[in-house]
Amino acid sequence: MSATHSVILLGVVFRAVSTGPIQPALSFTILEDYLSHSKVLCSQETQRQTLEGRLPLPSYAAILTDVVEYETVIGLEVHAQLLTRSKMFCSCSADYANAPPNTYVCPICLAMPGVLPTINEKAVEYTVMTALALNCTIAEYARFDRKNYPYPDLLKGYQISQYDAPMGQHGWLTIDMDGTKKKLDITRVHLEEDTAKLTHCTTPEGETYSLVDANRAGVPLMEIVGEPDISSPEEARQYLMKLRTILQYLGVSTCNMEEGSFRCDANISIRPEGTTEYLGKVEVKNMNSFKAVYRALEYEAKRQRQELEKGGRIIQETRGWVEERGMTVSQRSKEYAHDYRYFPEPDLPPLVFDKTWVEEIRSRLPELPDVRRDRFMSQYGLPTYDANLLVDSKAMADYFEDCIKLMTGTSNENNLHKKAKAVSNWLLGDFSRMLNTTNASIEETRVTPKHLVEMLDLIDEGTLSGPAAKTVFEDMFLNGKPASDIIAEKGLSQISDSSEIEKIAAQIIADNSQAVSDFQDGKQQALAFLIGQVMKATKGRANPGIAKRILLDKLGGK
Ligand SMILES: [Zn+2]
Repeated sequence: MSATHSVILLGVVFRAVSTGPIQPALSFTILEDYLSHSKVLCSQETQRQTLEGRLPLPSYAAILTDVVEYETVIGLEVHAQLLTRSKMFCSCSADYANAPPNTYVCPICLAMPGVLPTINEKAVEYTVMTALALNCTIAEYARFDRKNYPYPDLLKGYQISQYDAPMGQHGWLTIDMDGTKKKLDITRVHLEEDTAKLTHCTTPEGETYSLVDANRAGVPLMEIVGEPDISSPEEARQYLMKLRTILQYLGVSTCNMEEGSFRCDANISIRPEGTTEYLGKVEVKNMNSFKAVYRALEYEAKRQRQELEKGGRIIQETRGWVEERGMTVSQRSKEYAHDYRYFPEPDLPPLVFDKTWVEEIRSRLPELPDVRRDRFMSQYGLPTYDANLLVDSKAMADYFEDCIKLMTGTSNENNLHKKAKAVSNWLLGDFSRMLNTTNASIEETRVTPKHLVEMLDLIDEGTLSGPAAKTVFEDMFLNGKPASDIIAEKGLSQISDSSEIEKIAAQIIADNSQAVSDFQDGKQQALAFLIGQVMKATKGRANPGIAKRILLDKLGGK
């Protein structure tokens, strides 16, 4: 808005204030906000009539709710600890998870005076690798900077980070939202060091104190900053899951959110649909799981809408997610940006990336999830849904392909597709269910690909019925035995002998006269019920196809 316009508008609004019935709560601050937002928030007609003095100046809440639908705008910052053997700037071990406090430390990571840091080459390589996988442009020149701020977990009083010369910029990743692909931009990928860990304690007398553990201080931390392109909590969850999958494929981080090796902060604001204006950006912290990110963002988007509808304003601040209360609470106002007094780290040389070196890293990138998903669909004929779920976990996708390699008769494409779908059904069905109930990961399972393939072969050749296979699989999963042993032990081999099934079917028909007459009255569900009774009587061993044929024969159906 130009100065001239402001003056004119001010004059008119003051006329409106002096002539129209004005809401008493309309303060000068609100008036100012009204002026700055009026162009986008009022319909043109409302604006014109207000300015002509024919309409009273609407209340702030009315201005905001009258006209506008809001859209949510989310940007995520992810910190991932890198899986290097040593720390970022010293040779201490970075594998501190089970170490007693303050045992993996040295003068460098304890920030003693006079020490000099040295750069961990592997960490730089992992960061460049990640930036390449995220389609970033790799800088020819990158630099470490000091980010100065006082905090008890920052022993040096500054963090070695990267400011205006990061390693990778202008990247993107894609997510799948109900079958539609969405490209989300990534601003930058850079490298820094982790801080020490504080544990806050209280004495029996109620005095509070904090303990510092410097084992984590100096562990390499990669930061991935996303553009504010995300428009819903679900998209945010998908973005994070995709990013985690990519990092896991690269093998650069464990990405364990609960253990803190993968952390996420979110910026969230709402704005009138179709505008580019922010009504106050809120940063949300303390989210320790994908579910927490989703819930926190959903809560925050709703809170901001309600705040505006009440006539309030969105304060730019940092809020923490409190899991137990299911809400975010204000931590500190962010009206003024921190002055971190960044300056180039004088103890470290700048990084100059040789093109040949970057290309060599690019050539070593593994097959990434999107490419693998497309290949699963074309090579194995899997539906998008299956392919997406399988490649989400590298371990699961590897397991799937290990099974396929062991299967016989897959040189024929039809057969291969059929068998691949069967493996996928088991992995995404009973296998995943058992992993969930036992809280295990696929890496820990006792069912080897060989065991699973053997079981599928037994189903194919008719030795094992579908329902009995479920029992066999559960046993395989819990006890690690091959299917053939379990079938022998439990007498679970499929009954395909017609005369045996015929005897049982006759009995079932005799015992269920109601279902029989229902079927004869045309109720098809009655047949399913009768087949179910045959399966039940044989403990799932009867061949369901034969059971159906025999029942139909006996009932005179088709
Ligand atoms: Zn150290």
